Amino acid sequence: MKSDDVIIKKSKIHGKGIFALRDFKKGEIVLHWDTSDRISKEEYDTLSDYEKNRITVHEGIFFRLKPPENCFNHSCEPNTKMGEFCDVAIRDIKKGEEITTNFEAEDRPDAEKMKCNCGSKKCRTWIKF
Ligand SMILES: [Zn+2]
Repeated sequence: MKSDDVIIKKSKIHGKGIFALRDFKKGEIVLHWDTSDRISKEEYDTLSDYEKNRITVHEGIFFRLKPPENCFNHSCEPNTKMGEFCDVAIRDIKKGEEITTNFEAEDRPDAEKMKCNCGSKKCRTWIKF
């Protein structure tokens, strides 16, 4: 997706992250996902776990996220949440802030545990992906 609203930069949380190039109001759509790189359920089932981690499933559609959406960092205190094929601001976001979301897969008992580095006061330290 082409966007002048966000930019990918080196993040303090992990690797690269997505940063706001302008202020966003609570409730505003920050990113629309590009779902053009779709795969079928049959294809998905043949992928390795590593590859499956790179596929997003939403409303029964399987697709690979493209930049910048695939550079999202998790935060235990995120500033966006998943909407209908988009990410929506859950509070006002200031220009220059990193855009974060909650990746945690609470309902997946087989999820991998990873150390969280989000720096939030509410950080749960270990999160499941
Ligand atoms: Zn955290």
